[in-house]
Amino acid sequence: MSREHSHLPSETELRARALESLLVEKGLVKPATLDAIIETYQNQVGPRNGAHLVALAWADADFRQRLLADASAAAAEMGYIGRQGEHLQAVENTPRAHNLVVCTLCSCYPWTVLGLPPVWYKSAPYRSRAVSEPRAVLAEFGTEVSEEVEIRVWDSTSEMRYLVLPMRPPGTDGWSVEQLSRLVTRNAMIGVEQALLPEQLTS
Ligand code: FE
Repeated sequence: MSREHSHLPSETELRARALESLLVEKGLVKPATLDAIIETYQNQVGPRNGAHLVALAWADADFRQRLLADASAAAAEMGYIGRQGEHLQAVENTPRAHNLVVCTLCSCYPWTVLGLPPVWYKSAPYRSRAVSEPRAVLAEFGTEVSEEVEIRVWDSTSEMRYLVLPMRPPGTDGWSVEQLSRLVTRNAMIGVEQALLPEQLTS
């Protein structure tokens, strides 16, 4: 099989496209409506809702407790409810434990707080290697986790989705929630990276 074959659309993509064409053709849905849904989860929600929750948890110990006790309820407090957001669990990084999220079966992901999953999250290598060799996967993302730190891998399902609460970076005392949220990347909330350091902010 030539390499080009791996770039052909998957059966799921073909089915989605066929379904979209049919719905549009029958006048059941407008292309603009579909575009709006994708735009919402890809760009508007994106990972900003999750970043806001993390920043709030860093800034407010009471909110942090509520987030760790019941992340779905804590997200709902902020109005973050909707598709694939039910049964959300927050898992907290500490100096002794680092959390990494995967969906080994498919691509379960907390849309309401992180938007749509990145392509690599859905790839077969990530789905298997996050479990079999998490340290190597982390290293490929540039994330060094010392041998003394336990790595906890969380396998998402349609019943339970996970949000990593990264450690608050040093040098951020007195920062506002808005400032803190800029340090919280999507990858940090999946657990493949740490939160940014203040000096890593680009603007
Ligand atoms: Fe899945």
